[in-house]
Amino acid sequence: MLTQNLGYPRIGGQRQLKKAAEKFWAGKIALSELKEVAIAIREANWKTQLDAGIDLIPCNDFSFYDQMLDTSLLLGAVPERYYPLLSDTTKEGKMALYFAMARGYQKNGLDITAMEMTKWLDTNYHYIVPEFTHDQVFKIEGEQLFESFESAKALLGNKAKPVLIGPVSYLLLGKEKQAGFERIELIQKLTTVYIDLLNQLKAAGASWIQLDEPCLALDLTAKEKAAFVFAYNEIAKQAPGLQILVSTYFDALLDNTALATHLPISALHIDLVRAPEQLEEVLTQIPDKLQLSLGVVDGRNVWKNDYEKSLSLIRKAVEKIGADKVIIAPSCSLLHSPIDLDLETEIDPEIKNWMAFAKQKLREVKELQEIFAGNDALLTANQIAISSRKASQKVHKQQVKDRLSAITDVDATRQSSFAKRQHLHHERFKFPAFPTTTIGSFPQTDDIRQLRSLFKKGSLTLDQYEAALEKATTEVIKWQEQIGLDVLVHGEYERNDMVEYFGEQLEGFLFTKNGWVQSYGSRCVKPPVIFGDVSRPSDMTVRWISFAAKQTQKPMKGMLTGPVTILQWSFVRDDQPRATTAGQIALAIRDEVLALEKAGIGIIQIDEAALREGLPLRKTKQSQYLNWAIKAFRITAGGVQDRTQIHTHMCYSEFNNIIEHIAAMDADVITIETSRSQMELLEAFADFAYPNEIGPGVYDIHSPRVPTTEEMTTLLRKAASLLPPRNLWVNPDCGLKTRKWPETRAALINMVAAARQIREEI
Ligand code: GLN
Ligand code: ZN
Repeated sequence: MLTQNLGYPRIGGQRQLKKAAEKFWAGKIALSELKEVAIAIREANWKTQLDAGIDLIPCNDFSFYDQMLDTSLLLGAVPERYYPLLSDTTKEGKMALYFAMARGYQKNGLDITAMEMTKWLDTNYHYIVPEFTHDQVFKIEGEQLFESFESAKALLGNKAKPVLIGPVSYLLLGKEKQAGFERIELIQKLTTVYIDLLNQLKAAGASWIQLDEPCLALDLTAKEKAAFVFAYNEIAKQAPGLQILVSTYFDALLDNTALATHLPISALHIDLVRAPEQLEEVLTQIPDKLQLSLGVVDGRNVWKNDYEKSLSLIRKAVEKIGADKVIIAPSCSLLHSPIDLDLETEIDPEIKNWMAFAKQKLREVKELQEIFAGNDALLTANQIAISSRKASQKVHKQQVKDRLSAITDVDATRQSSFAKRQHLHHERFKFPAFPTTTIGSFPQTDDIRQLRSLFKKGSLTLDQYEAALEKATTEVIKWQEQIGLDVLVHGEYERNDMVEYFGEQLEGFLFTKNGWVQSYGSRCVKPPVIFGDVSRPSDMTVRWISFAAKQTQKPMKGMLTGPVTILQWSFVRDDQPRATTAGQIALAIRDEVLALEKAGIGIIQIDEAALREGLPLRKTKQSQYLNWAIKAFRITAGGVQDRTQIHTHMCYSEFNNIIEHIAAMDADVITIETSRSQMELLEAFADFAYPNEIGPGVYDIHSPRVPTTEEMTTLLRKAASLLPPRNLWVNPDCGLKTRKWPETRAALINMVAAARQIREEI
């Protein structure tokens, strides 16, 4: 029985790569220094995996920015707009091209946009999306793959296993940049190049090769399935003598099981953390020769593996195919895990004993192999940790569980219909047509960040800190009044982050010091860890929202983060369904909503920025998710009086197939992103005859560009042609936290002018 790993975090335990890359971009260090940092991380990672006793160790999983971008360069898939940069073939020139594709290029009289970036399947990692044209040419260009294999071989010998994204997923996760062809049709051309690559790796001494094909766990068309058959048959014929391992993750193979198990390959990896139930079917269909890699250690979460559970899966596989055909592995690349739990010195030791980060997960893979071989002591130690978590009062609060199970549909439903509430709101607030508002945050300037860090360091007292925040909050309120916004916000200056701020005040959450995970390029996030039943010991936002409300006669919108977003942007419990945790958070937010209402706040926004991104990859699983996610939102809002106006906000508004669920949230007002699509995303709302009020974002806050009044009026006219004008609000796409003040001022002044203009017209 072998062990393997699929990929390891590359930012470095101290985020060395982030720091070095940012210095390199700022011109503060030379390329050679950046490369030294990279090589040191790469080698340390290999040694860690070697020391852990892993048999097949990935190489080429390191990347300066993103592994899909690396692949595009390796395959010569450089979009035409970067051609001016191709002439510089020095090392520096090549790196300039690489980072230009990742981040855009504005130098030497050139102004080239970056390639698009999007979420890697259902993770919070973002990759650079390959771009294809109908006459796309592929040819082996980059040398990083070969260089990395040579170094790996020197250190790891025949344990070195090059990793590449597989040809079909590479195409499917990319995008056509021209009309008139489908990217999957490029499979023949691409396979030829993969065959060359594989033969070159073989000549360099490779035996195992890992090809990641996560798309095998997605819904596939007949054409896409055929592409898998074609590509892997050609590879088997024309690059013989290699042991090809195809890895899948993040969901079950389902209807692709026969396809995946019958590819002419040596081994198949399946994710048994996300989809343990698929083992049965895979074992039924598996042909004699195929080895099976069991992804039993969770690569997406921070919890210690339950060995007993994993062993039962391993035993089942061994029984059917024999130990020599089984490989033990993490569920997916460990890229999505924080690096090293040993660096956490401040986590409660009892809870820390339930956790494992990437380095510890390698050890778990090895221990499972050892236990299978008879090391009972390791199993016993694990059982003790697992059962202490199961019984711990730090985790389990009966009151929380009881309260959630007593929640009824009535609790999750507003008192009266939207029509009746809308009438009450119009009487209470007397808004003009097309009322104006913002999404919540205002620019988090260096001054504000500085305040927070001084306070954290203890250089400011709580009084001093709060006084400074009060001043900033008061100023932003006065400014909003001055420019004539209708519903004001307090600016969120007291918040570090929209999830962390709540997590820090809720029970059942913990925070790490070093639990960084790469989000994109040099950007890392440090998600909170939800370890126990969630409850709210006291008010969280009432102090700041009430303070803000007192500074103005205008309505002040209270600002909360919704349960699904808190869940989505945290490491969550694996000992109960996500739906249960969402429900518990929902109860806490519900109490906060009621506390705000009691404090006289008439308008409350519950942000569900991440609701759309939690949507499962497989269509068949989506409605179940939406049912509990929407229910969680309804629990937060269901307790208020009819006269209170509930808003929600969502960042990504591609709602085509899920609009009835969005409507079921029954928010009085929803604000969404639409400006980049020129209001096209509103068509789904129009087709559905969406009944409640809606604020389609009229300008893109992700860019510093100031939109003109005319542009925004045009968008509003379009919105008014699609939806009843009396239901429309006017607001930006999202919060203004990442913007600077000059553009924010100019843009919002123009936005208010656009609202005034459209009021006159309609
Ligand atoms: N209220 C939050 C803000 O304005 C919403 C952010 C978001 O949707 N990502 O920053
Ligand atoms: Zn948003």
